Amino acid sequence: MSRRRALRSVCVALLSTLPTLAAAHGINGHVHVTGWAVESLPPGELRSFFADAALRDTAQIGAAFPDSGYAIGDPYGEMAHWEPFINAYVEWISATFGPTYETEEARRHIAFMMGAAAHGLQDEIFDTHFLRYLIQEDGQDQDAADAGTDAFLFTDGILEFKPPLYIPESGLQAVFTASHDYAPEQSQVRAGMQRVKLLVIDRFAAVAPVFDARYRPLLPWGSTHYLDPDVPGSLRAEIQPTAAYMLALWERLHGRYTPQMLATHAYPTSTRRLRGVDHTRVDSRIGVVFGIGAIVGSLNEETVRLFGPGETPISLDVQHTRWTGRADDATRQVVLVPLEDLALDTEYEVRLLPGIELQDGRRTDSTWTYRFKTPCPPAGACSADPEAMPLDPPRVPYPPEPDVADPNPDAGPSPSPDAQSAPISAEPTVDAGAATHDASGSSPPGGGCVASAPSPKPAGGAIGLFAALAGLGASRRQIRRKPREGRRARAQIR
Ligand SMILES: [Zn+2]
Repeated sequence: MSRRRALRSVCVALLSTLPTLAAAHGINGHVHVTGWAVESLPPGELRSFFADAALRDTAQIGAAFPDSGYAIGDPYGEMAHWEPFINAYVEWISATFGPTYETEEARRHIAFMMGAAAHGLQDEIFDTHFLRYLIQEDGQDQDAADAGTDAFLFTDGILEFKPPLYIPESGLQAVFTASHDYAPEQSQVRAGMQRVKLLVIDRFAAVAPVFDARYRPLLPWGSTHYLDPDVPGSLRAEIQPTAAYMLALWERLHGRYTPQMLATHAYPTSTRRLRGVDHTRVDSRIGVVFGIGAIVGSLNEETVRLFGPGETPISLDVQHTRWTGRADDATRQVVLVPLEDLALDTEYEVRLLPGIELQDGRRTDSTWTYRFKTPCPPAGACSADPEAMPLDPPRVPYPPEPDVADPNPDAGPSPSPDAQSAPISAEPTVDAGAATHDASGSSPPGGGCVASAPSPKPAGGAIGLFAALAGLGASRRQIRRKPREGRRARAQIR
């Protein structure tokens, strides 16, 4: 057996032993959206902080951390997804290293925490918005999306980051204990992270083409819109809210975060025209993303309102993160679901009224507003686009457009298994043409495993892995119910 064939066999065998190695949008998606969010930060303290390449790598590998618990069947993974854990982590870093955070250990913890937080936020956004589009457009849900989107990133030549393995030497047990009265062994965390790093990040080239062949036919809409910046919850549409969340976490670490800073992002985003007016379709949903967890019960029909012309109130169903509606859970977003059709080419206004309770116990005491317009009529004149608002992000330059004219199924992560992040300049790139990434997809697959030829009928270890991927989706839905425990335990570290 050639060395190449032997390596492929080892990879498939290793992957087939994983009972639960996948997660909400794929781990490579988390690593990359987090990396792109860091690169799109505006000039300021946090962008300067991430001028250190080691800290960018730490944030990226931190973005793989929450799913590492799933990889070994340990409950720490689920806990790490939610704001109670993140809030406890912020408070622990602040109490241990604040207020200046000058040591290497402090800075590594901040970057790792931000990566983990970014992952949890991205899961909330993706599951709540993009998965509903997949249900509507493709008749598919999480099981196909989880593995499919990572495979599309690979095959479309987008993957570029392979952060080196890093785990904080100490501190995680204290944070888990504070948030959930649970302390995973450091050896368990290391085992989970090693498994994710080796098999999902470094060796993904071995299975990505197989996944692509399996899931692209199931997701004709999803595979062509998973990077569409105008679809709420697409990977590109997650970049700006992720960057905004990191900025909010920075303010929280420095004691400068106020309840009035709650809303950080809204959908519709870039054009601020809703995708549709039919209230029975997902296109008519409006989303607001937060920079801190908010208590579900305080986001209701009294505090979340939608008005049309002439102060006409629109009847709403106020929803939250897809996996919870419990009044005492925390959510990092609210979704306004109209219960009546909206009018075309009309301006509406979202209002978040005072009284929304935050994860840290404070409440908002002023009204936040956001205006958007509905789509233009299919024919005829259309009014001017909505006026710019302070919340509007710049057009997102990341990631670069894939080379759709010459798709390279062998394209994959950069050749070094521990390739570093791209250089970050003092000024953010705002021109897509000036993006620093190599979008050519010309880099050979990384690591020792080699890409298998796409096959519509994967066999052996691959089938086992597909089954495992499907199983994880079900298990995750069942256990995403207990973030509130951490809120009760928060007082322990104060
Ligand atoms: Zn996850």
